[in-house]
Amino acid sequence: MSNDNHGSQSGDNSLNVGVGDFRGADVNINNGERTTFTPEQLHIERHPTFGGRSLDSRNVSVFGYIAGLASLIGLYFTLFQPGLGWHSTWSTLFMFSFIVAVMAVVMSAVLRRRKFDHCFGSRHFLEMSQSGRLRVNRLTAQCPWCGSLMHLRHVGPKDGPRDDLFLCERNPRQHTIQLDPTALPELQD
Ligand SMILES: [Zn+2]
Repeated sequence: MSNDNHGSQSGDNSLNVGVGDFRGADVNINNGERTTFTPEQLHIERHPTFGGRSLDSRNVSVFGYIAGLASLIGLYFTLFQPGLGWHSTWSTLFMFSFIVAVMAVVMSAVLRRRKFDHCFGSRHFLEMSQSGRLRVNRLTAQCPWCGSLMHLRHVGPKDGPRDDLFLCERNPRQHTIQLDPTALPELQD
């Protein structure tokens, strides 16, 4: 057997890297971004928090308007009270309650459209049922690649866009599934 090189030796001396033949090599680890699964395939489960207690979203908005108005009135009187002012504990308290009130109104307005949003850090999700009741749930699933438990997390860069992702306990970097909350079954009362 001769080891003659039958290839052409001419060229521009650039390095030609052959296109590797990866047939048979199991490298197509799917990170789940393109694959879609149904909630049934993923065995998605809701885990209610606060003992499954729910709130009527209309009450939340009403509470928000009343609390917002009350804190504005409180703030007004605090600022014109001799001895008090912007730096008093009372004005801080009224400003804080005003922010809470605005958040309550905004949250219930957003949820009426989206029905689903994260809250309390990255593990808890606020959901609205068909009749407009609010509940806080944690969501888990079963990893379709390795069968491990997955937790739904609200993750992403600090300032950038964040996603609701199911992260696998065993391989949280590659076994991730983006949740489409509209694919979830309706929340029952
Ligand atoms: Zn997994």
